[in-house]
Amino acid sequence: MAIKLSQLVRDNIVKLKPYSCARNEFKGEASVFLDANENPMNVPYNRYPDPLQEELKRKIAKIKNVRPSQIMLGVGSDEPIDLIIRIFCEPKENNVAAIDPTYNMYKVCADINNVEYRPVLLNNDFSLNAERLLTAVDEQTRVIFLCSPNNPTGNVLNHDEIRKILNGFGGITVIDEAYVDFSSRSSWLTELDNFPNMVVLQTFSKAWGLASVRCGMAFASEEITGYLNNVKYPYNINMLTQNFVCEQLDYEDRKNNWVGMLLEQRDRLAEKLRTIPFVEKIYPSDANFLLVKVPDPEGIYNKLMNDGIIVRKRNNLSLCIGCLRITVGTEDENNILINELKQL
Ligand SMILES: *Cc1c(COP(=O)(O)O)cnc(C)c1O
Repeated sequence: MAIKLSQLVRDNIVKLKPYSCARNEFKGEASVFLDANENPMNVPYNRYPDPLQEELKRKIAKIKNVRPSQIMLGVGSDEPIDLIIRIFCEPKENNVAAIDPTYNMYKVCADINNVEYRPVLLNNDFSLNAERLLTAVDEQTRVIFLCSPNNPTGNVLNHDEIRKILNGFGGITVIDEAYVDFSSRSSWLTELDNFPNMVVLQTFSKAWGLASVRCGMAFASEEITGYLNNVKYPYNINMLTQNFVCEQLDYEDRKNNWVGMLLEQRDRLAEKLRTIPFVEKIYPSDANFLLVKVPDPEGIYNKLMNDGIIVRKRNNLSLCIGCLRITVGTEDENNILINELKQL
């Protein structure tokens, strides 16, 4: 059912002769580098970084149990979101579809690229309706964006419904798993070889505690990662980031401990929120945040802001009337929030 990639990729990208550097052509250990007009001084910062981040990918591949060639690394997962639209969508001609509500970057990137964006409502309980999505796509639809666990609703999308989309849609299905570490459900990475047109996005920005280093991962078939690598800036991941993330990958246990702590805090925060009389609803979450329904979201948001507590207003999103999104913090931070809410 998957459409052949050569029929989905824009013609100019299929024909693209990507930027190449001499160091790509050289295999082995060179000792004299006179090819890139670098300054020979100020070692090691003087050298351009590895454009394909091979060492870092080898380490990620081991942890994620995929082949290094199935990985593309971006400046956050925001970079592959943009690249996917640019690679597959002819502006003003093709379109993308996405669940609604969801992470806003899919729409922003579509808008920037002048590509029509089709939001398709989730069910009222935030579950995925594959049939509704498949009805909304047409022969000009190149990409469907799914997000699981979904931001801002917090729920995992039903695997059977996702499978219906993977089987029923011939284009590219993106599954954004930014919050997968917090979820009890497994990743779609294990299905990478079964769905050649699936892209799974993950990031170091959430569970790994590395939002400021800007490093995101796209996992897909070698054919798709090949296009992503051809279109990205050659040196998108700088050397400091490559080395630092490599180092941080040695501390997976610490990441897992953080996740455990945050899941405990999530349950505790939900429990405390339940004792606050004006809180109407706390939605179940598989992520490190809670979506909370209140009668006056603007008012509560502003009062919290005045006390130096920032939460996220999500009340203008589809199906999210009255909702604030609250990230799970440390025990102390969560206590401060609860105490402020009690005084409102
Ligand atoms: C936070 C988030 C990301 C992360 O983006 P980065 O660019 O990797 O920091 C991606 N997708 C979703 C749904 C998110 O909520």
